[in-house]
Amino acid sequence: MVGENAVRYPHLLAEVRKRGHRVGNHTYNHLGGFQSFDRQYISNAQKAEEILKTGKLFRPPHGWMSPLQYRRMLRDSWNIVMWDVLTRDYNHTVSAAWVFANVRKYTRPGSIITFHDSLKSIGKLRIILPDTITWLKNQGYEFKVL
Ligand SMILES: [Zn+2]
Repeated sequence: MVGENAVRYPHLLAEVRKRGHRVGNHTYNHLGGFQSFDRQYISNAQKAEEILKTGKLFRPPHGWMSPLQYRRMLRDSWNIVMWDVLTRDYNHTVSAAWVFANVRKYTRPGSIITFHDSLKSIGKLRIILPDTITWLKNQGYEFKVL
């Protein structure tokens, strides 16, 4: 979750937690690691952490961060979590059906699947997420909290 969105929509942060999900830190304002100085990047994540209180569970925007940012965050006990299935739901050139096929093709035990709640993807997400969850359950997958 992006920190500034949690400030804007605190009821959503509370609702996510109430439903038993774990919240991860995705910086304060979706800052890219290669677009910022190391100290700025880490303090941006810390600013988000003050709001989100994730226990330092962090996913870098775009999956990018510099080697120095990575090392400093590990040194400061951040848990950096990536993914192995990127749905590309944000891509305007792919359909909801394509996203669903992509998930079916690449998901395996232990997968972390990345969907997005942005305006670019929400139309597809509303169609595909319920079908994806149903399909995964029918395949015998379970959902676990990190
Ligand atoms: Zn992101």
